[in-house]
Amino acid sequence: MSWRPAPSVAAALTEANTLWPKRKRGGDGIIGDAEHARRQSDHNPDASGIVHAFDLTHDPNNGVHCLLLAALLSIRQDARVRKIIFDRRTVEATDWVWRDYTGEKPHTHHMHVSIKPTKTAENDTSSWWDADPVTRSVAVLWAMVEHATKQENTPEAKAKAKAKAEAAMEQATAATGTSWTAALTGGLGGATAVLQSALSLLSGTTGPEPARGRPVPAPQGYRRLVGAVPVLVGAEAKKVLATVKSPANPNGLPVGAHVVRTIAGQDYAFLIEWHKHPPTDNVSDALKDWHRGVSTLIRNP
Ligand SMILES: [Zn+2]
Repeated sequence: MSWRPAPSVAAALTEANTLWPKRKRGGDGIIGDAEHARRQSDHNPDASGIVHAFDLTHDPNNGVHCLLLAALLSIRQDARVRKIIFDRRTVEATDWVWRDYTGEKPHTHHMHVSIKPTKTAENDTSSWWDADPVTRSVAVLWAMVEHATKQENTPEAKAKAKAKAEAAMEQATAATGTSWTAALTGGLGGATAVLQSALSLLSGTTGPEPARGRPVPAPQGYRRLVGAVPVLVGAEAKKVLATVKSPANPNGLPVGAHVVRTIAGQDYAFLIEWHKHPPTDNVSDALKDWHRGVSTLIRNP
């Protein structure tokens, strides 16, 4: 049977291509494959050949952070949406409450969006991903809270996570001198960058700073860089080092936090860890005692 996507479904991916031309599309999809055809799925055409769902690839390094985009649709309670699934969480437009998703696929690499089977939802091609700075900043905060309370969906946990998220935002402002407001006015790409660094800060500040000398585990998906560090990467590590917590900069990045940067197409993580130089090194005495330093890690291929 011939099929076509609902105009709104096609518009969602076309708009994403325009907004983020470099975005990866490997997880994109509209029409169901043979596996979908055997079961009930919004990726299968309805009786008139119309498909009511799209998958959007999660590619935060090129501006597409699906947690942020799910937050935008949720905050708006987008009238087209019937259901969203992303990163083991799902929401239905009947109550807009996010719940654990226990389906077979965790949806960590793409976001699934189903639309309602109505003419209005099918034909509404207004923007999916445009948002004013206020909505963007609320969405960043929402996404951080959702991320922090996945398993603990109570109002108390949400309130606690919100306070933590706000503190992480303030801390990042103080540490890096970057204004969230300024970053958020830069469109959704700016909002994505804010969300990414805030999430990494949040993951580094959820517990107390590890005791002096205690090693910090590498962030998931990254390994320690051994051998020579490329010049540009070394320069970035120095920049991050300047924002690390110290007696002179008490609001700086704590041990355990990490910052992710893409340099010449490669992702690096700069992890704040305890460092100490051997007594024979030609450095100041202060550096021969435990102090906060920056370790460079590279993303696994
Ligand atoms: Zn899907």
